[in-house]
Amino acid sequence: MPAAAATVAETSTVAAEPSVCAPLPVLGRDVAVPLVTGGEVTYAALDYAASAPALQRVWDDVAAYAPYYGSVHRGAGYLSQLSTDLFENARRTVAEFLDCRADDQLVFTRSTTDSLNLLAAALPDGCEVFVFETEHHAALLPWRRAGRVTFLDAPDSPAQAVETLERALADRDPHGPALVCVTGASNVTGELWPVRELAAAAHAHGARIVLDAAQLAPHRAVSVRDLGVDWVAFSGHKLYAPFGSGVLAGRADWLRAAEPYLAGGGASRTVARREDGGVDVQWHETAARHEAGSPNVIGAYAIASACKALTEAGFDALAEREDVLVRAVREGLADVPEVRFLSLFGDDAPRVGVLSFVVDGWNSSHFAAALSAEYGIGVRDGLFCAHPLVRRLLGGDTGGAGECGAPEAGALNAIRVSLGAGTPEEH
Ligand code: PLP
Repeated sequence: MPAAAATVAETSTVAAEPSVCAPLPVLGRDVAVPLVTGGEVTYAALDYAASAPALQRVWDDVAAYAPYYGSVHRGAGYLSQLSTDLFENARRTVAEFLDCRADDQLVFTRSTTDSLNLLAAALPDGCEVFVFETEHHAALLPWRRAGRVTFLDAPDSPAQAVETLERALADRDPHGPALVCVTGASNVTGELWPVRELAAAAHAHGARIVLDAAQLAPHRAVSVRDLGVDWVAFSGHKLYAPFGSGVLAGRADWLRAAEPYLAGGGASRTVARREDGGVDVQWHETAARHEAGSPNVIGAYAIASACKALTEAGFDALAEREDVLVRAVREGLADVPEVRFLSLFGDDAPRVGVLSFVVDGWNSSHFAAALSAEYGIGVRDGLFCAHPLVRRLLGGDTGGAGECGAPEAGALNAIRVSLGAGTPEEH
C-alpha cells in the first residue's frame, strides 16, 4: 500500500481518551474579512449551527486519501478496493460513534434532510407520524408525503413535551405502525429535548421514534442504545466535515422492506429481462438498497474522520468548554437591556451552543448585517427554517420571509449565535 494510503487506512483506530479543552483547529480561523469602516479583521464564525467549519484534521485526512480514491463496490483495481474498504470502515466507525445496535443499518445520505426524506419514503403503509410543530422544516415536512401526520403543539417544558406526546399517542390505534420524529437540540434555541423519555413514551404506545440529531451530534455524545431511539439522522457539514454527506442509522426492518429510495446501480442485486419483455429486479437488503449510484465515498470518509476527532477530544470536555462560552455570550449581552433571548423551556434550560435573540428597536437582519460589516462577525438572521417555532417564540407574524433566508425589511425575525468546537474564547 502506498505510504499515504497506509496513513489513511490507519485513521480508523479510535482512541477515546477525553483530553482537550482548547478549541479544535478548524478551517477558516485566519480568514481576514474587509470592514465597511476600512481595514480588515479576522473573521469570527458564530454560525456553527448552519454549517460548522471543517476540522483541520478532517481536511488533512481527506487530502491524504484524495490521490487514492476510486469508485467503491465495483472495481477490481487496487484503488477501488482501497476505497471500498475505507467506505465500509467509515460505516463501522460512524455506527460505533452512534453506539448503534448490532443489527442496525447505517445508510450514507446527502444530509439530515435527505435522511429524513428517505425514512419518510420507507414508512410502512398506514403509518401515522407525530411531530412537534417546533421542528426544523427538514423534520417537519417530509412526513406529509407519507400519510397521516399529527402536528403537536410546542411544549413549555421537557416534561410537557412528554405529556403532550403521551396524550397524542394514547388516542391512536395501537396496532397500526406509528413514528415520532423529534429533535435532540433545537436549531433555534439550542435547548436539549428529553429524547430518552420521548422514546420510552413512543415505545410504550407501540410507536417508533427517529431522532433529528443535526444539532445534537456535533455537541453531545449520541448513543442510539442509551437513548432508545429507533433511528438517528445527522449531517456531515454540521459535524465538522465538508458538505454533501449525511447519515441515517437505525432499525433495518422498515428500510429493508421499503422500495429503494433511489432506483439504480448499487441498490440492485440482479436485474433480468422477463419473457414478457419486462424487467425483474432483486434489490439488496443491506444499506446499499438505499445508496444507489456511485456513493460519496469522500463524504463518508470525512464524516468518519470527524467522528474520531470528536470522540478523541471527548464530548464532556467539549460540552464543558461550550457551556463556558454560552455563559460568556449571555453575560456579555446581559448589559444590553434591548436584548431578549428566545427559549421554550426557560433561559436556564440545558442547551448546546446555540442562542437566538432579538434586539428591541432593531430589525434582526439589519443587526446581523451590521455585525458582519462593522465587526467581521458572522451570525445567522431570519427564521432558521423553523417558522412555526420562531413565530411562536416571537409571538406574532414573521412577515414575508423566504423559506430559510433573511426576511424582508420590517418583518419579525431573530438573530442566532452558534458556537462549536473551534470557537476561540476571544470570539
Ligand atoms: N434538523 C435540524 C435541527 C437542523 O438544524 C438542520 C439544518 O439546519 C436540519 C435538520 C437540516 O440539515 P441539512 O440542511 O444538513 O439537511
